[in-house]
Amino acid sequence: MEVMQVLHMNKGAGETSYATNSTVQSNIISTAKPVTEEAILDIFNHVLPESVGIADLGCSSGPNTLLVVSEILNVIYAKWQQLGRPCSPEFRVYLNDLIGNDFNNVFGSLPAFYNKLKEEKGSEFGPCFISGVPGSFYGRVFPSKSLHFVHSSSSLHWLSQVPPGLESKDGRGSWNKGKIYISKTSPDCVLEAYSSQFQKDWSVFLKSRAEEIVGGGRMVLSFMGRRSTDPRSKESCYQWELLARALMSMVSEGLIEEKEVDSFNAPYYAPSPEEVKFGIYKEGSFILDRLEMFEIDWDGGDGDGDNYDATPTSSTLSNGARVAKTIRAVVESMLESHFGGDVMDGLFQRYGEMVGNHLAKTRAKYINLVISLVRKV
Ligand code: SAH
Repeated sequence: MEVMQVLHMNKGAGETSYATNSTVQSNIISTAKPVTEEAILDIFNHVLPESVGIADLGCSSGPNTLLVVSEILNVIYAKWQQLGRPCSPEFRVYLNDLIGNDFNNVFGSLPAFYNKLKEEKGSEFGPCFISGVPGSFYGRVFPSKSLHFVHSSSSLHWLSQVPPGLESKDGRGSWNKGKIYISKTSPDCVLEAYSSQFQKDWSVFLKSRAEEIVGGGRMVLSFMGRRSTDPRSKESCYQWELLARALMSMVSEGLIEEKEVDSFNAPYYAPSPEEVKFGIYKEGSFILDRLEMFEIDWDGGDGDGDNYDATPTSSTLSNGARVAKTIRAVVESMLESHFGGDVMDGLFQRYGEMVGNHLAKTRAKYINLVISLVRKV
């Protein structure tokens, strides 16, 4: 599957849109904020450019897009003021995503955003030029040495393509029958196909950014990952396991054909810290300054445990529906292009119930990695 053509978050601002269902990702942005701040402050301890280049990769559309931009601008401007600089730098902000992203929605919110900046920061601030840059971050998207700070949140767990080699040549059709990502029962060749696609993509990503970021420039990247060295561990694949079960339950009712499930695999990978470090070391252009891991509840909570109710009630079931909506806003474009739009409501209805039952038994969490990298001078 060509990820570049079909992947996009659900558009607009309606009930099933990404804009309405992105609190998990917004929690991730807030949790990673101290790392982002620290990285930005470090860059400008060393250089004070007149024109600062900033990029957000996988910016999507909705409240998170400009939230990230405003946080970054705030930190940089505060640093300039703290240093007593007579004038503000010029800000070049590049918002990158795949071509299917709802850039128009983002552009539509820019006039209000510029006004707010002017109101909050006064006429001394800027100028600030925000532009959209469509294209895959697995390749060059910006001119050489044009960026000081690169940010990306909740995007790098998407691979550039479904790993090749998941179809079996022995007549079984697929090495990953009835599954759509790595699962507890996946054979080793499935794990290898995924991890080798991850290493390929990660290396292209780092190499491309190495050209675009100035020496001493920085990147802060957060994405889904895992603590365990075992990619079959529940913490990194159980959300896909349940989605596969929901699909298979539709197969058993004759609503979807089994071979359609067998031939679908998610272009996604949740790497371990070791895999991430290995790629950075091997590519060689960046120093890893920080790597942190944190847990994010499936339903977007902050992981403090206070509101957890272990008894299966109607509220845990509706939590299931809520989690299903957050996943739907992200994966629907891909599933729809493979299985067709007609089965989507039924699929996410079932998925919501299964997630609800799971949440009634356990408190499910994603593992998020956040890393801070410095471009070698
Ligand atoms: N950063 C936002 C959006 C995360 S959703 C937030 O934190 O809320 C992930 C985004 O990554 C999607 O918009 C998707 O289109 C984008 N994406 C996935 N693969 C990409 C690639 N290869 N190049 C650019 N963007 C990509």
